[in-house]
Amino acid sequence: MTEILKGAAVVAAMNEATTALVEVLTAQGARPTLVIVRVGEREDAVAYARGATRRCEQVGVVVRELILPDDCSQAELVAAIQQLNSDDTAHGVLLLRPLPTHIDDDTARNTLAPHKDIDGITDASVVGVFTGEDRGFNPCTPQACLEILDHYGIEIAGRRVVVIGRSLVVGKPVAHMLLARNATVTIAHSRTADLPSVVREADIVVACVGRAGMVGIEHLSPGQIVIDVGINVLTDGSLAGDVDFASAQEIVSAITPVPGGVGTVTTSVLVKHVAQAAKKTQARIIKA
Ligand code: NAP
Repeated sequence: MTEILKGAAVVAAMNEATTALVEVLTAQGARPTLVIVRVGEREDAVAYARGATRRCEQVGVVVRELILPDDCSQAELVAAIQQLNSDDTAHGVLLLRPLPTHIDDDTARNTLAPHKDIDGITDASVVGVFTGEDRGFNPCTPQACLEILDHYGIEIAGRRVVVIGRSLVVGKPVAHMLLARNATVTIAHSRTADLPSVVREADIVVACVGRAGMVGIEHLSPGQIVIDVGINVLTDGSLAGDVDFASAQEIVSAITPVPGGVGTVTTSVLVKHVAQAAKKTQARIIKA
């Protein structure tokens, strides 16, 4: 029988642990605080901020919003981020992107201090993923994949993993984070020859392609664990993963659903990172 690796159970466990950490830090006078920086009124950014705020409030994390007008200059945004960098009461900063086109994305995101980069968007955080050094934070979606595997007690070390997709946002970081956990990792992509036979060899499959149902029965083999990162909007408005869920259920031993899998866990990772950022700041203040 195929186990459905539901995100809700992971979220519940993570929220419990984060709440406990938030309580300890709050008692020490350092209540974890997230500042959401938004430029303009893009509907998706407003909705994302609302969702993140709700999740933060569930575990006692304070949320402040810094909203700049759509026509704010690059210098104004940079100055606002620099001000947050030196504000010890702003533990984590979430810079909502995409930014308006007149603002240089690289400059804006790299202005953020890595120890406040709870979304893993700075170059320093990216370097940390690839070197294993404690620089910033891991990007939330790849981290959500690991949280799911860990929550369900799925061994990573020594297992053969095939990651399908090599974007800098999901595929590459998740591959390196699994490598750091001693998996044997193959990264497949659109030019991989005979993709089905490559994927069939895996113990764990991580699909991050962005094509609904492209991973079908011909890619899968009995006993596999499947983490489906894909979020694809179908013509009827419903969501589907990259894996053909119905076919996969016939053969694999465990699979994340879409919706209700990786995407559900991603925001809890963000909130956990805020608490961890506050803990680091508090440790630094106590030491000084
Ligand atoms: P992306 O930048 O478009 O990258 C897609 C990757 O898939 C590329 O590396 C591409 O290969 C590869 N690919 C495309 N067609 C392929 C094929 N036929 N066979 C094998 N590989 C193929 O997408 P992304 O930003 O990584 O996102 C991937 C998916 O994850 C999307 O559905 C996105 O919505 C979802 N996502 C989910 C979350 C979450 O919280 N759950 C967060 C972020 C993204 P090439 O490099 O060769 O072109």
